[in-house]
Amino acid sequence: MTDKKFLGKIHGEPWDALAKGPREALAAIWNDYLAEVLQISAKSERYKILRREIEAAAGFKEVYEGWNTLPPESRAIAWRRLMTASRNHLLKRAESCVRCGECCIKGSPILLNRDLGLFHREVLTLNDVYTLRPGEKATTREGEVIALTEERLKVREVPGTRQCWFFLAANQTCRIYEDRPEQCRRQNCWGEPPPPPAPEELLQRRHLFAGAPEMWDLIAAHQARCDCAEVVRRLAEVGDGSEAAGDALFEALHFDHYLRQMLIDDWEMTPGATEFLLGRPLSDFLGTLGLNATLTPEGVFSLSSRREPA
Ligand code: SF4
Ligand code: SF4
Repeated sequence: MTDKKFLGKIHGEPWDALAKGPREALAAIWNDYLAEVLQISAKSERYKILRREIEAAAGFKEVYEGWNTLPPESRAIAWRRLMTASRNHLLKRAESCVRCGECCIKGSPILLNRDLGLFHREVLTLNDVYTLRPGEKATTREGEVIALTEERLKVREVPGTRQCWFFLAANQTCRIYEDRPEQCRRQNCWGEPPPPPAPEELLQRRHLFAGAPEMWDLIAAHQARCDCAEVVRRLAEVGDGSEAAGDALFEALHFDHYLRQMLIDDWEMTPGATEFLLGRPLSDFLGTLGLNATLTPEGVFSLSSRREPA
């Protein structure tokens, strides 16, 4: 974003139009003034919130309603008061989050080391977060699709969207705003986007399960047999006619599926929590590679090509 200075006036002083014009002239000049000082799209939620706040702080409604009966000297005073109040408000608010929710709709945060305490305080649970494993693709808040080289934990999205599931669209609020993750705190829509987190900052499953060897062994066993990069390699070998690679691929697919089933049936986990423990199902990962993995009534997977990779 370019340098955004508070200019405090529009192109020249609009005294003539203000002195002689009706309240509609005031409204038009006020619109121009706000466009200049806010320097963001009038359609954005951030603009609408800041405008509401400025108008409340400046008493714009009262000035507008009484405008037609004000003599020119009083209009000049009222206009200066509007500008001063809006400038003072912007000095406080121009570089802060106004909780408009636009970034929450574009994507959910990935978790950083500093978010570990959110699990300890149960702000986040296993049901709120899923694991993206190396080799998977992910979409950033800016809409860029990247192939992951390291594991990431990500807050779930509302199904079928990229909207963070802690965001309540009906009243545009975050359910955990006071305890929001570090990446949300770094969100800086009024300036340059924050740099991507360094790999050593990423919170990963090993940080959460270091003290739970039974759980960690299970995660490690799953990773060893269902590694995404390994699946891609086996698929290439299947393409070259390797039967052994095909067998290994089906074995991984079944292991992944029945391990999840065991966690749900015997450990009473939710399907969401299994996506935290083990990452997303291998059948979903194959879908991103253009393959449908379908479970037959006999409990065996069959693979077929999709027209378009997901
Ligand atoms: S940081 Fe996000 S929620 Fe806060 S004002 Fe910017 S876009 Fe809106
Ligand atoms: S946790 Fe809250 S602030 Fe962060 S993206 Fe989700 S809804 Fe927005």
